Amino acid sequence: MSALRPQVLFPLFAKVTTLPGIGPRLVKLVERVAGENVVNLLWHLPSGVLDRRFSPKVGDAPAGKIATLVVEVLAHSPPPPRSKIPYRVLCGDETGNISLVFFRGNQDYLEAQLPVGEKRVISGKIELFDGRRQMSHPDHMAPLSKIDEVKRVEPVYPLTEGLAPKILDKAIRAALAKVPELPEWQDEAYLKRQGWQPWREALRTAHAPTGDEDISALTPARARLAYDELLSNQLALALTRLKTRVRRGRSLVGDGHLRAKVQAALRYALTGAQSRALAEIFADMTNETRMLRLLQGDVGSGKTIVALMAMLAAVEAGAQATLMAPTEILAQQHFETLRPLCAAAGVRVEVLTGRSKGAARTALMEDIAAGRVQIVVGTHALFQKDVEFADLAFAVIDEQHRFGVHQRLELAGKGSGTDVLVMTATPIPRTLALTAYGDMDVSRLDEKPPGRMPIDTRLVSLERLAETVEGIQRALAKGAKVYWVCPLVEESELIDLAAAEERYAHLKAVMGQDVALIHGKMKPAEKDAAMDSFSGNDGAKVLVATTVIEVGVDVPDATVMVIEHAERFGLAQLHQLRGRIGRGGKSGTCLLMYAPPLTQTAKARLETMRSTEDGFVIAEEDLRLRGSGEVLGTRQSGMPEFRLADLAVHGELLAAARDDAKLVIARDANLETPRGQALRTLLYLFEQDDAVRTLRSG
Ligand code: ADP
Ligand code: MG
Repeated sequence: MSALRPQVLFPLFAKVTTLPGIGPRLVKLVERVAGENVVNLLWHLPSGVLDRRFSPKVGDAPAGKIATLVVEVLAHSPPPPRSKIPYRVLCGDETGNISLVFFRGNQDYLEAQLPVGEKRVISGKIELFDGRRQMSHPDHMAPLSKIDEVKRVEPVYPLTEGLAPKILDKAIRAALAKVPELPEWQDEAYLKRQGWQPWREALRTAHAPTGDEDISALTPARARLAYDELLSNQLALALTRLKTRVRRGRSLVGDGHLRAKVQAALRYALTGAQSRALAEIFADMTNETRMLRLLQGDVGSGKTIVALMAMLAAVEAGAQATLMAPTEILAQQHFETLRPLCAAAGVRVEVLTGRSKGAARTALMEDIAAGRVQIVVGTHALFQKDVEFADLAFAVIDEQHRFGVHQRLELAGKGSGTDVLVMTATPIPRTLALTAYGDMDVSRLDEKPPGRMPIDTRLVSLERLAETVEGIQRALAKGAKVYWVCPLVEESELIDLAAAEERYAHLKAVMGQDVALIHGKMKPAEKDAAMDSFSGNDGAKVLVATTVIEVGVDVPDATVMVIEHAERFGLAQLHQLRGRIGRGGKSGTCLLMYAPPLTQTAKARLETMRSTEDGFVIAEEDLRLRGSGEVLGTRQSGMPEFRLADLAVHGELLAAARDDAKLVIARDANLETPRGQALRTLLYLFEQDDAVRTLRSG
């Protein structure tokens, strides 16, 4: 809750319990589908429509259709006590009869609602039972005066079990009634060009679809709402970034002597992509403004050496640099990679993690503070207050999505005008990168170091399991090592495990002793034993695994991977898995086994895997096929989630929002003009309160 939130928005940020019909029992369900505040209900858009305009005579009402009928109530037949038969109410018009059916119907209630001899409007699905018309639990039973409220096209909202459509609909109508008129925050000319309504009207239109075509994300009303959301996202990022930019950077220019020494110690030349990325980074460093650059590169694309060269340039300029990793293990790995190279250049590198303790830590801190250590590798332990640098000028964050924007800024705060390079192994589609990082500069390592062999990926039906096992045996006879990845069963690790254990037993029976098993529930020692056996020369040649092998497993001479039920995996996950093979200079084979029949989308996804190894292409395809929310496990990754925008369809709007945000910042960075003031409201509406706080008060 923000003290600064404008008062006009208060009704929208009240709890949903302030709406009629939402009591303590229903509030949990409403929170589950939409959110806890009234505003969240506004963002809960219909997923379909129900057309109740069809209004035949009873005798003409066809079974299976939704119909709205005007009937006279003829008779009530309550069931005998304690029987399981439903309560029936016979109704009809001059053309025929229909009975309304209520399981566990309450007699008093039904007699009050449906008095014999009166006319009622009823609406629901017509059913046939024993050749007679009936309607179970009509959706509407109203007096004739309300016929227009019943005979309409009704929005259908995504629900959750236990939440009745009528209740949610009523709450949403009440939420819409609370929507205040707000000053327009969009550029009027742009609105006109797009043919968009004012915000409040767009909201009402989006909640009042009159046909299936109104459910599309591309309707003007929905596009407008999506654009509002995207603009708030881009503006918030731009403001946060502005704050870091205001603190000036410094020009870091090295003479290249350390880099030359490291280059001489390397057994390879940099790839074109690495050189290009470095040129971009050096240009940023030379520049007086603060660097904030994202380095994207698939696993194995060679980001580490890029980071090192950049850090060395800072060291050459007389400053310190740091490389921060998300876990201790990764920090340690980076440290061990960098140590020999730094030694060759006569640069002192040290590692600082949560494990650093006592006198050793104290001594290390002193050396860092005195500038005797030039490069510090670490975890978030680097954030600790007592960690002081003599002159930190360059920070690399090997992010893998685990650090947020604020942590990034915090680390940068350890130095004055520290340049920041963020590295990510996840091939984020451009559009998604834009929503997470805003207009951050991006360098891409889109070329792998030489020596990587292509992987032959094939799609194989699970019906051909026996043949596949035979094929694997032939490969084993020729000395191959094989990963066998078992199906991912959603929501149940136990079933996962059972499947892996069963496959393990099966393969072991067929193939003899050369099989090992690894899964997440094993003790570390058991895991190590399985890995040692598989990576050694005399141990297991087949490793049956659940997806635990996705992270950090490196067995260069493994060349074959079988993935069972590949259709159940995300594309990003398949890509990461497949990246485990074809590393040791030998070409690899990846068999994606699927259970037929495949849906169109599943087929398209597996086809993508078959046709490319380019993580970026795969990520873009994933976005196109599934929509942004599900790509790359973004839900866990700190990527923003949108309620109204769908990046798979609103990509162009995102680009427009970015340009718009840039323009706003250029003209009215403190959001003081009338439009700027309105934009502040927009930011609050989308809960970007932090971004508003970066503005100077007043
Ligand atoms: P990333 O961190 O991007 O996943 P790494 O930096 O760990 O990748 O590099 C993967 C492997 O490729 C390392 O063993 C590294 O030594 C090697 N490598 C990096 N650049 C090159 C290159 N230009 N030529 C050959 N091998 C390279
Ligand atoms: Mg790496």
